[in-house]
Amino acid sequence: MNPVFADLPVSVFEVMSQLAREHDAVNLGQGFPDDAGPEDVRRKAAEAVVSGWNQYPSMLGLPELRQAIAAHYRHWQGLALDPEREIMVTSGATEALAGSLLALIEPGDDVVLFQPLYDAYLPLVKRAGGNPRFVRLEPPDWRFDEAMLAKAFTERTRVVLFNNPLNPSGTVYGRQDLELLARFCRTFDAIAVCDEVWEHVVFDGRRHVPLIAMPGMRERCVKIGSAGKIFSLTGWKVGFVCAAPHILRVLAKAHQFITFTTPPNLQAAVAYGLAKSDDYFETMRRDFQASRDRFAGGLRELGFPVLDAQGTYFVNVDLASLGRNEDDETFCRRLVAEHKVAAIPVSAFYAADPIRSVVRFCFAKRDATLDAALERLAGALKRTS
Ligand code: PMP
Ligand code: GLN
Repeated sequence: MNPVFADLPVSVFEVMSQLAREHDAVNLGQGFPDDAGPEDVRRKAAEAVVSGWNQYPSMLGLPELRQAIAAHYRHWQGLALDPEREIMVTSGATEALAGSLLALIEPGDDVVLFQPLYDAYLPLVKRAGGNPRFVRLEPPDWRFDEAMLAKAFTERTRVVLFNNPLNPSGTVYGRQDLELLARFCRTFDAIAVCDEVWEHVVFDGRRHVPLIAMPGMRERCVKIGSAGKIFSLTGWKVGFVCAAPHILRVLAKAHQFITFTTPPNLQAAVAYGLAKSDDYFETMRRDFQASRDRFAGGLRELGFPVLDAQGTYFVNVDLASLGRNEDDETFCRRLVAEHKVAAIPVSAFYAADPIRSVVRFCFAKRDATLDAALERLAGALKRTS
């Protein structure tokens, strides 16, 4: 059996959700909202199941959805994408990532990855034969600079995998960071696979800037989005990739032998949803921001050192300054068993040389859920051994 998968542990999200069930804990681990999601979008999907087309849709995705994606990104990010040749629908961002990495990496290529990294990335890079080169980001700012990139990029670098906004840290990288990364991609002739699933979940008036909009990047970027995050429907697994025709053509070859298509009824509902008014998206952001403020404020009152949460569903605490003799994983296991709150140890997002003091909480929950968690967390910092 292939050791890349045979030797892998079960994903930390699954482990913590399972522990949450066993201990009847409030689950702030795996990132998903605890409400049902927008009703009109769900109704569209239901209608499409009952009255719509339920046979194979076109391999690249329903034309109406590809047009809706192009219109959506034109409106929100100023991008001009050709729905026929530059957009493909996938079964979640996860499939988009798998297909992109399989299609773009040749065995022996160096691939630049940023740690903390989403858990799917490394096995996929390795299975494609890539040789990972890490940029290690650290709290509290999780920033990268020229020297860090210079250490990671080599003459053999073909692909860079970049997640912005960054899960788990909630960091939103802006123009300056993107320009620096774009310069390295151009200099080393690398393609950037941009995991932008959190593009709409940004706070405090921020606007997401896609790397593909940076000078010289239009021809060397794969932009990945996910309806699961845009509509707070994480189980839907409708993703999309946008790339110049010479790249998309190759990604489509991988897609045709991974899933080939994505359920047409969900695609129809996503097409409807992407055209929703600005108000929907602004309200979604405002609501998540209010949840962030409620939960982060509560954590601070309890004495947790809370890190800046600029986007995503996540807020992190850094236990380092508390001088505790307990790493993030031990803390999370104790938290779920003794205090009945599940969280994610951020060391799970490092392949090498992990940060062991940061714990991630998902705040995309109802107020009552967050308040219940805060109440349970009240005693969690008492023990210092
Ligand atoms: N990338 C990142 C950074 C994510 O956080 C997630 C899910 N939370 C995904 C990819 C997977 O997205 P999807 O569910 O659309 O496959
Ligand atoms: N992306 C989600 C998170 O970060 C988890 C998705 C999964 O369980 N694979 O919590």
